[in-house]
Amino acid sequence: MSSSLSVFQCESCRSILGDSSSYVCFNEDLRSVTLSMPTGTQPQFIEVQALKKKHQSEIVDFHKKVFQTVTCKHCSQPVGMVFHDLPAHLSPMNHQITFLVDQISSYEVGSPSNQPNSIFTEIEKLQKEVTKLQRVMLNISDRIVTIEKCFAPDEDQ
Ligand SMILES: [Zn+2]
Repeated sequence: MSSSLSVFQCESCRSILGDSSSYVCFNEDLRSVTLSMPTGTQPQFIEVQALKKKHQSEIVDFHKKVFQTVTCKHCSQPVGMVFHDLPAHLSPMNHQITFLVDQISSYEVGSPSNQPNSIFTEIEKLQKEVTKLQRVMLNISDRIVTIEKCFAPDEDQ
């Protein structure tokens, strides 16, 4: 497994907001990257605003959905949101931190240039990793089904 790590930064002040070790998903419609909310602790680099609002969006899936604004702790610029009641197919995004791609930038740790890559290049890489993992999982679950069949008591008799 590649050990490359992408770091996401605030577009305005370049503070680090999170990294790809907590990557959840990418949403093409919203142009957003979702990272998992740290459990048990307050997020270190961002502020989740207490006020819950209804999102006004052209995108049906996100329209009138309850969200909290996420701001950069350093410069207080909005960088994303936390959604709470998205439909089932978007449920991995619920209660997690969704960064809007236009409000963040990213770079790969250890890349020689240390130049900010296009965020879409980074996301593409992440998606590939996730797809690889999903294939491994599918393969394993197929094998388990086969094994279970061998050991299952014959219920017809
Ligand atoms: Zn900032």
